[in-house]
Amino acid sequence: MAKSAGNKIDDRILKDKFSLKNVRNMGIIAHIDAGKTTTTERILYYTGVNYKIGEVHEGTATMDWMVQEQERGITITSATTTCVWNNYKVNLIDTPGHVDFTAEVERSLRVLDGTVAVFCSVGGVQSQTETVWKQAKKYKVPIIAFVNKMDRIGANFEKVVLEINKKLNSITLPIQIPIGAESDFVGIIDVIKMKAIYFDEKRHGTFIEEKEIPSNLEKVTTESRNRMLECLADFDEEIADIYLQDKIPDIKSIKKSLRKLVLQSKVIPIMCGAAFKNKGIQPLLDAVIDYLPSPEDVNEIVGMDPRSEKEKIISVNDDNQSTVALIFKIVNDPFVGKLTFFRVYRGSIKSGAVVYNPRTRKNERLGRILQIHANIREEKEIVFGGDIAAAVGLRDFSTGDTMCAINDQIVLESIHFPEPVISVAVEPKTSIERDKLSKALIAISVEDPTFIVNSNQDTGQTIISGMGELHLEIILDRIAREFKVDINSGKPKVSYKETILNSASSEAKFIKQTGGRGQYGHVIIDITPKDRGYGITVESKVRGGNIPKEYLKPIENGIRESAQTGVLIGYPLTDFHINILDGSYHPVDSSELAFKIAGSMALRQVAKEAIIKLLEPVMKLEVSVPEEYMGDIIGDISSRRGSIISVDTSNNDVMIIANVPLSEMFGYSTIIRSITKGRALHSMEPSHYSILPEHLQKSIMENKS
Ligand code: GDP
Repeated sequence: MAKSAGNKIDDRILKDKFSLKNVRNMGIIAHIDAGKTTTTERILYYTGVNYKIGEVHEGTATMDWMVQEQERGITITSATTTCVWNNYKVNLIDTPGHVDFTAEVERSLRVLDGTVAVFCSVGGVQSQTETVWKQAKKYKVPIIAFVNKMDRIGANFEKVVLEINKKLNSITLPIQIPIGAESDFVGIIDVIKMKAIYFDEKRHGTFIEEKEIPSNLEKVTTESRNRMLECLADFDEEIADIYLQDKIPDIKSIKKSLRKLVLQSKVIPIMCGAAFKNKGIQPLLDAVIDYLPSPEDVNEIVGMDPRSEKEKIISVNDDNQSTVALIFKIVNDPFVGKLTFFRVYRGSIKSGAVVYNPRTRKNERLGRILQIHANIREEKEIVFGGDIAAAVGLRDFSTGDTMCAINDQIVLESIHFPEPVISVAVEPKTSIERDKLSKALIAISVEDPTFIVNSNQDTGQTIISGMGELHLEIILDRIAREFKVDINSGKPKVSYKETILNSASSEAKFIKQTGGRGQYGHVIIDITPKDRGYGITVESKVRGGNIPKEYLKPIENGIRESAQTGVLIGYPLTDFHINILDGSYHPVDSSELAFKIAGSMALRQVAKEAIIKLLEPVMKLEVSVPEEYMGDIIGDISSRRGSIISVDTSNNDVMIIANVPLSEMFGYSTIIRSITKGRALHSMEPSHYSILPEHLQKSIMENKS
């Protein structure tokens, strides 16, 4: 059986019509360095998109198209690409592995139907994988596991299978077993077909040979198959009936049953290979077709009617109904401008069509519709339910927005993004470039919802905020390279918050008498502290119309706006509840503005009665390191006010998880490299906010004044 690479794939995509049954919208999730980029590259090679095998370490990988990614060897954006395998269209949505880019993973998972999780056969389940895995489970995305790097020293398939089972709390079903390991890894046994598969090394694995199972592996293969059948029989009566009669179900029934269970996220089939050595990719593609869902397998999604705010169940894929599509990514493309990536759930979208945005309450006309194959763009006249494509020319759509028809409005559940925890001041080197900088910042913030731009009212400085040091570094790099603006940037700063520790109350009156009509607003409020992460709530307890209803919202807005700039030293005040207790109004002089100002004054007033503390962001730090450095790393974490959450010594490398305040973690990449001579892998993500120790609060306040 030979499979050749190098077909003219784009012609095929253009000419062929794919029924939905023959489409797979899938992504690859993995711990950084597990081999996701290499696996993707090989998929593009065997499906004919790439003519040359691009190695990651040479910085030529097709999906890693941003310069920064190539230099850093990580994948930031979820570029999408389309390829064809055995008359199935596979839309591959690339997901990043670095936790600084959780938002990217989160949004790509929203639009995937299924995913391949790549594990390293030596490293096994690293805790970053657990984070992404949890996200996949949250969105009920069916998973196939691929144990990669079977050629590496220390490769251990069984160990990784057990780990997936235990650590990720999932029923695992190896449908392959490796033939040999490390440098003796030569092929794979297909436990369903009961055949050995070998890949021709001289021809980049494009030639595949099926042979009988080597006799020394017959016993383990039979055991493995029996375990698989028992597992299927546990869930599937049809298989149970056959199996109980001591018969072996045929390949078709096994596949059908497995597909059903994978779609229900009941089991995870496990496969293996070595992407870098061109082994195991074609069977993985077969499995994507056999076991991962097509858009047709997704029947319904939940939306909301923005006018009634009532839930609406949307039956997907009906081309004759009105359009429903979700925007999951925006990319600023140097050639065509803003590219808005969307997935269609229902109806169709034609190029040049008018689409409605329930958030902005505006209709917009889109220009061309493109499907992107990493570096080639293909123009589409029309796209349908299940399709993923990008629109040119949309101005006001943002990530998470729904596209629909004005006469049938629907909002899909928006994508949740974490709040930024770190910020840095930026300014152009010359004032002529001010405009260019602001254009660049707007373009990047439209693409990336976790990147926020503000200007400091007092200093006029532009402040950019993000999810971590690396996130901001990459953005600064993009401003310079992609947008060609020379900038100066300050030192990154921690985004602190303010909170209150005790209940208090206050009264504020805003009265102004200036000729003509005056201003009058009067409110009495009380404030109660709440738990970390609560946010802000405002409730009215006003009775008897002392404050007319129409002024309640302005009071709340005044309170919220004022909280934004804090009451102590300018950081946002959070985690409290406010009751609007009472107040009064003037029939002529009262206005929305007067009550808004009164609300804002009341919050400032109440702060005088309350104890205000600073909150600092705490990061969840994960370090994977050879055991000999464990003591040094733990000691270093403690010296940074960190607390160890867990130390897992069950792998070759020790995995240390800790909470450490962000303010103690600047430049940690360099420090950890020098402590461990570059032998550690680490990642960080914002975890929570906690109260800053008194002496640090004092010193921050002294420095501010
Ligand atoms: P990603 O961070 O998950 O995208 O991982 P990459 O695909 O960038 O791979 C990380 C490193 O592992 C690169 O140096 C690859 O060449 C290497 N690599 C990937 N797959 C294999 C494999 O099957 N065997 C071996 N030995 N190395 C691999």
